[in-house]
Amino acid sequence: AVRVRFCPSPTGNPHVGLVRTALFNWAFARHHQGTLVFRIEDTDAARDSEESYEQLLDSMRWLGFDWDEGPEVGGPHAPYRQSQRMDLYKDVARKLLEAGHAYHCYCTTSELEERREAARAAGRPSGYDGHCRELSAAQVEEYTAQGREPIVRFRMPDEAITFTDLVRGEITYLAENVPDYGIVRANGAPLYTLVNPVDDALMEITHVLRGEDLLSSTPRQIALYKALTELGIAKETPAFGHLPYVMGEGNKKLSKRDPQSSLNLYRERGFLPEGLLNYLSLLGWSLSADRDIFSVEEMVAAFEISDVNPNPARFDLKKAEAINADHIRLLDAKDFAERCAPWLKAPFAPWAPEDFDESKWQAVAPHAQTRLKVLSEITDNVDFLFLPEPVFDEASWTKAMKEGSDALLRTAREKLESADWTSPDSLKEAVLAAGEAHGLKLGKAQAPVRVAVTGRTVGLPLFESLQILGKDTTLARIDAALA
Ligand code: GLU
Repeated sequence: AVRVRFCPSPTGNPHVGLVRTALFNWAFARHHQGTLVFRIEDTDAARDSEESYEQLLDSMRWLGFDWDEGPEVGGPHAPYRQSQRMDLYKDVARKLLEAGHAYHCYCTTSELEERREAARAAGRPSGYDGHCRELSAAQVEEYTAQGREPIVRFRMPDEAITFTDLVRGEITYLAENVPDYGIVRANGAPLYTLVNPVDDALMEITHVLRGEDLLSSTPRQIALYKALTELGIAKETPAFGHLPYVMGEGNKKLSKRDPQSSLNLYRERGFLPEGLLNYLSLLGWSLSADRDIFSVEEMVAAFEISDVNPNPARFDLKKAEAINADHIRLLDAKDFAERCAPWLKAPFAPWAPEDFDESKWQAVAPHAQTRLKVLSEITDNVDFLFLPEPVFDEASWTKAMKEGSDALLRTAREKLESADWTSPDSLKEAVLAAGEAHGLKLGKAQAPVRVAVTGRTVGLPLFESLQILGKDTTLARIDAALA
């Protein structure tokens, strides 16, 4: 049975790369009717926080993910927070030491640095040189007498490690490129290098799907797994698949510090979770050459890890918005209205709810639904309907109100006054006729009307907007603009 894991560290805002990893693991688990384990890697007390942990859970729920084992749902391998599993790691470290798979290393940082420099200068591999591999009892005594506190270092086998990556195919690491590595700090704190594979073993993970940045830790983990298997701690080594890098601006890796990478940004701007997930799925995968828009259910049904493309994927905000826009169109009317609700309230819309007129909203919503890229745009698109006066955007006013605009507005007002207000077409005819009277095409003629009534040069379809706003208010706003 397939068992995969999603195991982030709670260190600040979740970023989109993390969400992509969660999505691929989730889709893989669901496709194979397997188990998704959600594990919290919070062993780094200096960087992890309870607030980040809460935020992580909240983000996962907002995205619509569910997990079979982990925080809040429990499971046979509880606890699922590494900070609560310290005794387990200590026990495993002790067993590794006893069996000779690990050893105490007394080298100081400066000694390591010095030898690394010397190796580099001599053109030799600059990783750990095995200095403490076979210390005599006398040497250990001497180091101890000097007050040195050892770290625990894992002994790598002296042979190449080959594995078949589910995304990249066969990969070989030569022994000289994978030196012995630390697994427990001098103060006794176990490191990621130990706790992550130990938990994968204890939680019986069958497939490790994670970012390409972790590829180089895989040979170490495979060697550790072998030792754990010998000790009866691990059952079988999982298969590994490394998801491609996500590139941001200027073809640089999208970093955690890049504002574009913060999940919260997308949430606050009104991406739909399904729109964002659809976009993120395309970072390394595709449903078919001719279909960019699909649901997570369709992704789950089709998802094969062997279809993941190993090449770096480019993060393209414009495309993300376009895909989100398509998902907005796909909502049914009631759902759309409900999802817009947060942006029609304080603090986004300080004019609501006192002034909120439900019938106007019902009338305008369908026009908005076909035009929004992100839900937060709703506020500026409909505020003119609910505010006593439009919010005049200065640049729009200067752009639309040119010489001759007053004369045009006067004519337009006259024609609109006698138009048939049950039909947007009739309102269009009125503005068209006013334009003709002043030698202006429709586009030029409607600009001052739009600004006078809505405050902006761009927005929802004008004549429908005027109709929804109503004749009296429309004419009054034109009068006010003329005053
Ligand atoms: N906690 C690790 C991270 O967030 C997990 C890495 C892994 O998937 O092995 O980078």
